[in-house]
Amino acid sequence: MTARTPLMAGNWKMNLNHLEAIAHVQKLAFALNDKDYAATEVAVLVPFTDLRSVQTLVDGDKLKIKYGAQDLSAHDSGAYTGEISGAMLSKLSCSYVAVGHSERRQYHAETDEICNAKVKAAYQYGLTPILCVGEGLDVRKAGNQVAHTLAQVDGGLKDVPAEQAASIVIAYEPVWAIGTGEVATPEDAQEVCGAIRGRLAELYSQELADGVRIQYGGSVKAGNIAAIMAQPDVDGALVGGASLDAEEFVKIVRFRD
Ligand code: PEP
Repeated sequence: MTARTPLMAGNWKMNLNHLEAIAHVQKLAFALNDKDYAATEVAVLVPFTDLRSVQTLVDGDKLKIKYGAQDLSAHDSGAYTGEISGAMLSKLSCSYVAVGHSERRQYHAETDEICNAKVKAAYQYGLTPILCVGEGLDVRKAGNQVAHTLAQVDGGLKDVPAEQAASIVIAYEPVWAIGTGEVATPEDAQEVCGAIRGRLAELYSQELADGVRIQYGGSVKAGNIAAIMAQPDVDGALVGGASLDAEEFVKIVRFRD
């Protein structure tokens, strides 16, 4: 089996202006060291308005923190007022872009078809998509979390070739655990993350599936990350609220300590 480097990504959501962003990344950079980066990839998904400032800081100080956006347009360019294209993100040297976060699916009616178009747009411009999937509380209560989440994986990856899918990151984020303080048990996380890997093997190959990183997201904190990371199919976390506290996020990155 391929060794997978864990990816800890902070999703800042609509928080931190560009000055606060600089201060926050400086705090992370000050705390993190080469040993941390060797063991775990660290990324921040920041508001569009922060990207240029974060880029300048990362480039200027040769930081090993990766950065990216929380969304992108499915379109290349044109009359799409308010949208940001993959080409624009690529020009700012973003590494990652989240696609289909549950808040986008819920408040912006993003369907699997739209997510699929966004995954393709990300790859077209050399960005690595972090495809977010996961069930709501009603689906979980009905015991349909695996089928629901796998349908989102199928939809998001429709007609995405193996050469591209090999680098995708999938974030399993049960919607009922996002920003609620309600964390899934490590076993809950493993059940669905394991099923996602199984589906990737069916869609592509076991080798590809073994190389893809699958994150858990939903009220991750320093206190619960170690047990979640102990699960064989969990390769990192997408961290919302706790990523806004630099000390807490660094502890999450150091989940092995
Ligand atoms: C998220 O925004 O992806 C998330 C998981 O949020 P939180 O960690 O706050 O639950």
